[in-house]
Amino acid sequence: MQTVTLKAPAKINLYLKVLNKRPDGYHDIETVFEKIDLCDEITLKRRKRGVKVLCRHKGVPQDERNLGARAARALLKKTNRSDGVQIRITKRIPVASGLGGGSSDAASVLLGLNKLLGLRQSRRQLLDVAGRVGADVPFFILPAARAIGRGKGEILSPLRVKRKNWYVLVVPPVRVSTRRMYQILRMPLTTRPCGVKITHKYSYNSFEPVLRKKYKEIQEIKKALKSHGAKTTLVSGSGPCVFGIAKTGKEALDLSEKLRAKGKNWQVIVAKTYPNSKNVKEA
Ligand code: ATP
Repeated sequence: MQTVTLKAPAKINLYLKVLNKRPDGYHDIETVFEKIDLCDEITLKRRKRGVKVLCRHKGVPQDERNLGARAARALLKKTNRSDGVQIRITKRIPVASGLGGGSSDAASVLLGLNKLLGLRQSRRQLLDVAGRVGADVPFFILPAARAIGRGKGEILSPLRVKRKNWYVLVVPPVRVSTRRMYQILRMPLTTRPCGVKITHKYSYNSFEPVLRKKYKEIQEIKKALKSHGAKTTLVSGSGPCVFGIAKTGKEALDLSEKLRAKGKNWQVIVAKTYPNSKNVKEA
């Protein structure tokens, strides 16, 4: 096998509660992650030495800061491999929008490299490497489309998806720093999560009140989604992507057209819950 091609799906957070700051600088959270069928594409090719990233998107680093490259280096090191890999990333997930694109790319690199080089790493071993690359990376290693995340987001319990949801994602052209968002929340520093249990009323995001206050466009997008029929609207991750939930594909398409007709410079994307298994093509 010379190349492996994988889809790297985006995620949304149907629920996200920030609980407390930890002594290691991270925050404990409780979240419900869901993969959606908006995907980057990753193609891995064997290389004699070194990790090389090819990506045309201007917001994505091609050097060692790329999360895909970091994942590949971590796995090659763990398995004592001296050969390398070329990672080609076709970016479709909006960058730095709260949709987890970098983390998903990293997880797909781990899954694909395991296959390409026959590394025989178990899911548990891959989850361990993933957790060291980033807090959201382990979720993308799981075959489940939906899961509860606790700790930094890496303690996962898969959830059964009874019914797929349709979404309209709206990404305004504002830059949000995840780090800064956590600073603004000013959570108490404790060693134990001071959380409440996840209720079944999913739609909640601790960052949303701050984002609504700081960026008028977020408020405007929520209002527009609601006025055109979306009952539930929520920010994903630390934003700025806002999604509205639709009942059917037709409802989602209609809603997306109405949002586009507003003529704003918002990126409007229709997506639905991702299927449970992953799609890997070998060549
Ligand atoms: P986070 O909340 O972790 O910042 P996000 O989902 O909002 O994540 P990403 O698309 O993952 O956003 O990008 C976050 C940052 O990571 C970007 O600013 C980018 O410079 C960097 N990055 C590194 N590798 C990648 C990658 N493969 N794809 C996208 N961004 C990447």
